Amino acid sequence: AKAPVRVAVTGAAGQISYSLLFRIASGEMLGKDQPVILQLLEITPALEALKGVAMELEDCAFPLVQGVVQSDDPNVAFKDADYCLLVGARPRGPGMERKDLLAANAAIFSVQGKAINDHASRDVKVLVVGNPANTNALIAYRNAPDLKPGQFTAMTRLDHNRAIAQLAEKTGTHSTDVEGMIIWGNHSATQYPDVHHTTVAGKKATDLVEQDWLTSTFIPNVQQRGAAIIKARGLSSAASAANAAIEHMRDWALGTNGKIVSMGIHSDGSYGIAEGLIYSFPVTCENGQYTIVQGLDVNDFSRDLMSKTEKELGEERDGVAHLLP
Ligand code: NDP
Repeated sequence: AKAPVRVAVTGAAGQISYSLLFRIASGEMLGKDQPVILQLLEITPALEALKGVAMELEDCAFPLVQGVVQSDDPNVAFKDADYCLLVGARPRGPGMERKDLLAANAAIFSVQGKAINDHASRDVKVLVVGNPANTNALIAYRNAPDLKPGQFTAMTRLDHNRAIAQLAEKTGTHSTDVEGMIIWGNHSATQYPDVHHTTVAGKKATDLVEQDWLTSTFIPNVQQRGAAIIKARGLSSAASAANAAIEHMRDWALGTNGKIVSMGIHSDGSYGIAEGLIYSFPVTCENGQYTIVQGLDVNDFSRDLMSKTEKELGEERDGVAHLLP
């Protein structure tokens, strides 16, 4: 039998985690043969609620779960962690300005980046879900000088999956017929869902849909999908966000078999994107590593949208620069 791996999850008593933890525990993230030790972090006031979640995990009697740690101390929760899913973040409160939100999260992700640096496995893989996810991931890696920036990623997989679903619906096909979808940039309303390299049942997506539909319907619908869910459900998306987190980590750890997925990763300057930003790129994964898909043609339309979302990420970085080491 395989040795257990340690999976740390923050915001573990929150809505996304309520779906996420049970799927990690059942083996959907790392495989049905991979035992896990769950290391759950919450803020002190949420520890009682976290206890309830841990009791429910216990009541599932999952064969793969070898232990559940509950803590409000990042140094405990990230100890020897092989995988960290940073879900908890400070939500925007009434009257809170964007800079206050950035500052509140900078405080959380600085502490967590440092704790991961000091205590996690040297091969740790980190996924940031909590918003602003890309910039939170940047803050975390800047506080983790002993690890590689490439070990810190941000989630754009939900956007990726949403884009696939919208295109499949429009073309009357199934989501599994859609390949080569790309989300570029920030997990925000400036993200660029790009179908120029996408195929649907083997046909070029750009031959199947009108440019006008892309500009006036597809791109805004994908960008605004989170708000549409809140309007319909009265709550933010949680199960679909958890599903995307599972798929992001599963693909990173176990590989994509050549399939292209989108991940927010440390920019190495590919496609002219400023080095050091956490920017969503098309990648494939193999042997626990992701690789940016290179050599794709970028037309003027795409370049403009890729630059807009890059600019926003640069502004977010500059907004927290004074808080970074
Ligand atoms: P959720 O579990 O619903 O959301 C958690 C984070 O994920 C939010 O920042 C949210 O952003 C983000 N997110 C990213 N993508 C999506 C998406 N597609 N749909 C919805 N959310 C998305 O929040 P809860 O408030 O239920 O739970 C958060 C928990 O985190 C609380 O229990 C809180 O105590 C905890 N927390 C823990 C910390 C820690 O462990 N140190 C620090 C801060 C909070 P958005 O706000 O934009 O929806």
